[in-house]
Amino acid sequence: MTRFVSGRTSATNAEAFERALAVSPGGVNSPVRAFGSVGGTPRFLASGRGPYVTDIEGTQYVDLVGQWGPALLGHAHPDVIAAAHAAVDHGLGFGAVSTGEVDLAELVLDRLTLTAPDGTERRGIEKLRLTSTGTEATMTAIRLARGATGRPLLVKFAGHYHGHSDSLLSEAGSGIATLGIPGSAGITPETAAQTIVIPYNDEAALAEVFARHGDRIAAVITEAAAANMGVVPPKPGFNRLLADTAHAHGALLISDEVMTGFRATAAGWWGLEEREGAPYDADLTTFGKIIGGGLPLAGLGGRAEVLDLLAPLGPVYQAGTLSGNPVAVATGAAMLAGAGPAVYERLMIAARKIADGLSAALAAEGVVHTVAWAGSQFSIFFRETAPQNYAEAQDQESWRYPAFFHGMLDHGVSLPPSVYEAWFVSAAHDDAAIARVLDAARPAARAAASASRS
Ligand SMILES: *Cc1c(COP(=O)(O)O)cnc(C)c1O
Repeated sequence: MTRFVSGRTSATNAEAFERALAVSPGGVNSPVRAFGSVGGTPRFLASGRGPYVTDIEGTQYVDLVGQWGPALLGHAHPDVIAAAHAAVDHGLGFGAVSTGEVDLAELVLDRLTLTAPDGTERRGIEKLRLTSTGTEATMTAIRLARGATGRPLLVKFAGHYHGHSDSLLSEAGSGIATLGIPGSAGITPETAAQTIVIPYNDEAALAEVFARHGDRIAAVITEAAAANMGVVPPKPGFNRLLADTAHAHGALLISDEVMTGFRATAAGWWGLEEREGAPYDADLTTFGKIIGGGLPLAGLGGRAEVLDLLAPLGPVYQAGTLSGNPVAVATGAAMLAGAGPAVYERLMIAARKIADGLSAALAAEGVVHTVAWAGSQFSIFFRETAPQNYAEAQDQESWRYPAFFHGMLDHGVSLPPSVYEAWFVSAAHDDAAIARVLDAARPAARAAASASRS
């Protein structure tokens, strides 16, 4: 029996959801949580520890949602929790500068400084402005690009998700993909017309859009490696082509690393391509999720020359009552401090074991599928080959996913409640947790095999 602050009680997930439906739209505060595309009753989670979460009925699940990214070290990592406690004891926020913000910015900048094979220092970003959500970070990046260039147009890729601001909801991934809708109501045609959506990984479409509109394009925004339509990495060299094309036309490249930042590698997707010899220069890079260690915190980094156009130095306005909140910057710093090379190694090993085991279980049941990878991040597609763009990502037997999802859930594994989301493994997913996932995979694969297109 969970007692709510309101004094009312809920013994079951179903009871809690009924109460939630009465007081909030769809019973949720973010659409995918409603289980709309998989059916059934959302689990009201009461606690999380390491690779596990527990709902209000006391049922424990191995968690592969990972707070949609931040739980890189697992839930309630002792160092992160200790940092939060220590910060809370000094007050919840001041709306003034505090040194924790500077500490976090220094940590981030250090991580995004790599030495190239020839000894030159490469910096992913030179300055960082903190916000509370990834949505604010990308929204500000666009304003900044328009302010810097004096141009109106934005180019984005179909199936990429950059948060829920007006100009970024056209053919977006994540919940928009899950709901199978082209965009959102409530956005004016004028705003929508300023975002040009092109297919991902398509060099010809990119060349064409710049040939036609080049002198009016402020920026191209891209997920550094797309992961909100399932995982769809860029073709080798595609990010560099984006940077070069944008720069040749006087436009900026905004690389959205809200999900990949501090996950793909310690230095994000940028770090991965730096290491693999395909370096690219983004003008602006956005961060979120892991950067806050689980609390609401995100950020916008980039070249100093561009970032300095923000108020109070420059003419582009951006602000936030809660920006740089001292508790959030403390948990973020503890998270980054705790995420050393061993963490990324464990993450990769755990992800491989889980993906290989699931793939074997699906293959044994004859379910057509593929596992797509971007660094340590992966997702499963119910199609033969890994997709390169949104149209291909949508061309799969997605109707198998609800049965698969509930097969896993019934056997104690919590997956993202949408086929269009990446799976989030943590460094805390040890062999015991992985074994539970693989045990659940067999019956879930059977359920997927016998699912029928409705
Ligand atoms: C999650 C996400 C966002 C939005 O971040 P919020 O904190 O949910 O506003 C933006 N871009 C990408 C790539 C994301 O994965």
